[in-house]
Amino acid sequence: MSTPIVEAVNLRKIYTMGDQEVRALDGISFRVEPGEMTAILGASGSGKSTLMNIIGCLDRPTSGEYRLDGEDVSRLSDSALARIRNRKIGFVFQNFNLLPRMTALENVEVPLLYSGMSHAKDRAMAALERVGLASRARHEPNQLSGGQRQRVAIARALVTNPSMVLADEPTGNLDTKTGDEIMNLFRELNEQGVTLLIVTHEPEIAARCRRAIVMRDGHIIEDHPTAGALHPTPASSTGTE
Ligand code: ADP
Ligand code: MG
Repeated sequence: MSTPIVEAVNLRKIYTMGDQEVRALDGISFRVEPGEMTAILGASGSGKSTLMNIIGCLDRPTSGEYRLDGEDVSRLSDSALARIRNRKIGFVFQNFNLLPRMTALENVEVPLLYSGMSHAKDRAMAALERVGLASRARHEPNQLSGGQRQRVAIARALVTNPSMVLADEPTGNLDTKTGDEIMNLFRELNEQGVTLLIVTHEPEIAARCRRAIVMRDGHIIEDHPTAGALHPTPASSTGTE
């Protein structure tokens, strides 16, 4: 068997506020294998962001183990965590988080500048091609639609060839049709082998993934394949821009 991308064992995150304890994560265990496309579902306050911050190496658990690609990262220093994060994780956000006065191409290059990888321009262009936006490389974010901006953000997440892409409500700022196109793109990338973890509170988005993990009060209460695990991927959504 291959090494899991995520191996979380009994993760706890406890915030202390005065004499109050908030158990944001209260014993979370799960694995993600390479090539999975998993939704993390749950009501507001259930612990989704806390979990994503730990899985994305932005934060550490209070206790428990987290192995990313076989490497125990639960006790690393901030700087060691940042190095692993830049190398192994691609992030996609609800608000796209593109830099406004830079072109699409320059935005996609940013993670490469941090990691010191060579041929940044060529790699960034290849990533834009992968999301069907090569023809918009010179455009700035305000010259792009919401869906196009999110494609640029997805290209930026892919450009370092990470072990896993984490997306936090990636369709939250998009209309239904555009959100659907972004989910088609994620499905296509997943079929090419990209491992995806997508936080959402929308059951329709979770159904487009292959597996759904449902959280409540810091616990996993469900973990099962979705209808999307069975359905074929819709026709290509890239290369048409
Ligand atoms: P979700 O993303 O599912 O809405 P969160 O992970 O943001 O949930 O929050 C889970 C619980 O932890 C909530 O009760 C929230 O108030 C609490 N929490 C989150 N971050 C902090 C923090 N920095 N300090 C104290 N409590 C926090
Ligand atoms: Mg949240």
